[in-house]
Amino acid sequence: MKEQFLAAVPVIEKLEAAGFEAYFVGGAVRDLLLNKEINDVDIATSATPEEVKQIFSKTVDVGIEHGTVLVLYQNQSYEITTFRTEAEYEDFRRPKAVSFIRNLKEDLQRRDFTMNAIAMDKDGNLIDPFKGELSIKNQVIQTVGKAADRFQEDALRMMRAVRFVSQLSFRIEDETLNALINLVHLLDNIAVERKHTEFDKLLLGDNRKQAIQLILKTNMNSYLPGLSNQEARLKLMLEYKLDRLTTREMWALLVFCLELKSKDIEGFLRDWRSPIKEIREIQLILHYLDKRFEESWSSYDLYMATKDIFLSAEVLYLVIKGIETKDTIYQYIQVYEGLPIKNRSEMDVTGNDLMEWFNKSGGPWIKELLLKIEQAILAGSLINQKKMIKEWLLKCNHN
Ligand code: ATP
Ligand code: MG
Repeated sequence: MKEQFLAAVPVIEKLEAAGFEAYFVGGAVRDLLLNKEINDVDIATSATPEEVKQIFSKTVDVGIEHGTVLVLYQNQSYEITTFRTEAEYEDFRRPKAVSFIRNLKEDLQRRDFTMNAIAMDKDGNLIDPFKGELSIKNQVIQTVGKAADRFQEDALRMMRAVRFVSQLSFRIEDETLNALINLVHLLDNIAVERKHTEFDKLLLGDNRKQAIQLILKTNMNSYLPGLSNQEARLKLMLEYKLDRLTTREMWALLVFCLELKSKDIEGFLRDWRSPIKEIREIQLILHYLDKRFEESWSSYDLYMATKDIFLSAEVLYLVIKGIETKDTIYQYIQVYEGLPIKNRSEMDVTGNDLMEWFNKSGGPWIKELLLKIEQAILAGSLINQKKMIKEWLLKCNHN
């Protein structure tokens, strides 16, 4: 068993000592069987959230209505979820009722795919009533039970199937794929936030191109924000070498392929419920990318962009141009590293200094003067030392 599981064995033992059942479940067991890196170790138990909270001293209620309690144990955190079933209402309507149960098999039965419905006890024995291990061996994504029923219960599972194609390079089993093709429109009922989480993972998978192809083949794009009727532009993504791009770079490339006008980028990303910080970063990357198509960046551009942003923009530039060498990346890094300051806060002068030196009260003049100083430092015509800056100001009479 891998270290992460071994570290969690005492957590399971504590639950068992209190008279409950507890198992490793979900993605961690799947990834262990695949010999892949494990994200987080999830535990399922017959104890109710209240009972879990009585057993462990440090807990956080992260999703108590779904039966999930976060347990902090020896500097690690574990999501412990009570065995549950999901009673569905008709018409795919929310909220769903969740009921806690004491039976592991029923808990495994409510899970989406056979590969995700395997439990493992603390000794490493598998409890696998839906032949998940076989699915993993055959590299197939197959729903637990009838695919059409499972997708009608929760349409997000269709998007999860495509996300797993991207991450695991498995194929979707025929009945599951047919149900997906027939029911993909039900994704209209799903909250964008949930779609976003899956899409982020999909964009980052090793097999991301096949996943994008599958989105097109199943017409899933028609039910994703801003992507309906964009088949031709989405296909453009497939022409590029995508494998090394980060999530943020993938989003930026997507926006680039969609040929959105700069005023429309924010709206598109807001429709996806992207956090504002990410929106701003993607806008910046695209701004510097645009500029790069016109000319090389100056050292001032690199400074203004910041390293993170210009590196992403350059990576995208090379991908779009089909350039394999990384020479320009190294060159830009070298220029950047040679900059006398990387950030406004590194200037050896403050607004207070200026007020004192010129014996004037605050006002817009401070900002203007600081900008002049900043530009002189970056141009190399002024050394970033308080004394030098003061002399330079008095000599040039910059007040
Ligand atoms: P990852 O490695 O990305 O965390 P994961 O399989 O653990 O993959 P999670 O979203 O963390 O995915 O979900 C944990 C487990 O909960 C899944 O393995 C699956 O058993 C179950 N699950 C998650 N979402 C659903 C869903 N929409 N329907 C049914 N079961 C689900
Ligand atoms: Mg997980």
